[in-house]
Amino acid sequence: MTATKQLMEAETTTDRYTLADLERWTEVTHNLDPTIRLGVFGDPVAHSLSPQMQNAALRACEIKMQYARFHIRANELRLALGFLRELDFVGINLTVPHKIATLAQIDAADESATRCGAVNTVHLRDKKLIGSNTDAEGFSRAVRQEFSIDLRDLRVLIIGAGGGTGRAIAWQCALENCERLVLTNRTPAKTSALVEGLRPFFVAPRVLGPVARLEALAWDESALRAQLPDIDLIVNATPLGMNPSDSAPVPARLLAPHHIVFDCVYAPLRTRLLRAADEAGARGANGLSMLLHQGALSFSLWFNREAPIEAMRAAIAL
Ligand code: NAP
Repeated sequence: MTATKQLMEAETTTDRYTLADLERWTEVTHNLDPTIRLGVFGDPVAHSLSPQMQNAALRACEIKMQYARFHIRANELRLALGFLRELDFVGINLTVPHKIATLAQIDAADESATRCGAVNTVHLRDKKLIGSNTDAEGFSRAVRQEFSIDLRDLRVLIIGAGGGTGRAIAWQCALENCERLVLTNRTPAKTSALVEGLRPFFVAPRVLGPVARLEALAWDESALRAQLPDIDLIVNATPLGMNPSDSAPVPARLLAPHHIVFDCVYAPLRTRLLRAADEAGARGANGLSMLLHQGALSFSLWFNREAPIEAMRAAIAL
């Protein structure tokens, strides 16, 4: 394939489609070659790097189809998912705010999705939508890649634990038997239910001193100040940081050199939280490595083959 052809393909797939386009899909896409049979639904979605990463994977495997962005609002999700059944799609990714709502709108879900109640990957089988969650395992692989450490050795704080991504990460921490798990969320009721579901994983005592292995926390400065000395890994699973005007999910003055900070946000690459971690002498990583690993796992679900991870990594300049 020539460089010009590659560039043309890249241009067509950075387009953003909508529900109105899905309604007249044949007309809207009749000029496209290869056709779009994969994509990501989100609101916002313009920031998503999944198209450039998944299209690189498709090219590397010589699979003749494209992956596109779809700007789908919360009240459009059911209709948009319905169109996939008719339009010969292979599958779709879900991003903010659709991961939790999708679970109730598909035909079946595997254990990775049902246990945490969130779907980030759908594949189609016999016109049925099957949901999975690759964020959880993708996060675990990303932490290992970025910090050379396993979740089982960490005391973890998840901010935004009531959202689709936060729940998936909390379940992964529990399954990997992390040392300690502390959950916080803007809407506290969502973390209390999650804590009850995770409690059986934390019954065994570990040598930790006078702190609980599992707890839900109010998201305020005094509660964070009391907890952070007993936390190693701080995870931002909220969208805070995507806009320059967003406040940091943890005040910079509470960060210390022993912390490691994982920000699921990757656009911008250096969020306010990661700058604060740097200034505190703490290690930090943005969400690009998680994007890579969850995307590779999605690719494997769609095509039942190993993903070309180096081509995907190169496409997002990781
Ligand atoms: P979601 O299901 O909509 O959940 C959003 C979470 O953030 C909820 O806990 C919500 O709290 C909280 N939140 C939203 N706006 C907030 C605000 N202004 N202040 C405080 N808390 C706020 O979204 P999601 O799909 O989990 O995505 C969360 C973030 O993770 C997004 O930025 C997404 O791009 C990123 N992400 C990155 C990757 C990656 O591969 N790097 C993968 C997955 C997700 P309430 O419960 O109170 O509403």
